[in-house]
Amino acid sequence: PRKFFVGGNWKMNGDKKSLGELINTLNSAKVPPDTEVVCGAPSIYLDFARSKLDAKIGVAAQNCYKVAKGAFTGEISPAMIKDCGVEWVILGHSERRHVFGESDELIGQKVAHALESGLGVIACIGEKLDEREAGITEKVVFAQTKVIADNVKDWSKVVIAYEPVWAIGTGKTASPQQAQEVHEKLRHWMATNVSEAVAKSVRIIYGGSVTGASCKELGSQKDVDGFLVGGASLKPEFVDIINARK
Ligand code: 13P
Repeated sequence: PRKFFVGGNWKMNGDKKSLGELINTLNSAKVPPDTEVVCGAPSIYLDFARSKLDAKIGVAAQNCYKVAKGAFTGEISPAMIKDCGVEWVILGHSERRHVFGESDELIGQKVAHALESGLGVIACIGEKLDEREAGITEKVVFAQTKVIADNVKDWSKVVIAYEPVWAIGTGKTASPQQAQEVHEKLRHWMATNVSEAVAKSVRIIYGGSVTGASCKELGSQKDVDGFLVGGASLKPEFVDIINARK
């Protein structure tokens, strides 16, 4: 069975005071032993988050560059993330793709380098509203997944996050059926294009306006193995989402 995975993506929010309070709440929360929890902190707070959060909760960077070091002003490398004791990185997030113009090619290079450096990767994909309306959701997410897959050797360190862009930060959560439909197709794509074994074992998590209220039904879908949570991950409600399958 795939271990349920609940990621929080704090995005560019919080300060030491508010994140410190959130961390205290998470440290005293019950985390089911069959659930993996990871919080994505702003890069300047990675060290802070890792040193304050209990070991039962993982930490992720929200981005990194594609090489270990050098003249890349403003960037951080997987080696630096690891040096802070941080285990994961989120790559290919919709905001990186669409606000900062990251290409599939760059995201692929980042995935390869982060994995080679020993980080786990939460690799994000998802269609925009016009793409869904044009009926090309599958085509879009398969193409994004292919670029990621071409850069992965060890799938044990990869989590796929399906985040439809129209659901991110909009309050328009995908219905459990909409999420399940895409997750199932993605798993089938993995079976055909990677292997049956990887299709069975890889976690495919859903992101986009997940709340304490919507998490139970979403999380009970056969191919939904957890969540990547934005807004609600900054609230005590995140604890309810961690316990979605209880
Ligand atoms: P929201 O949960 O705020 O919609 O954000 C989702 C997301 O982008 C997580 O990476």
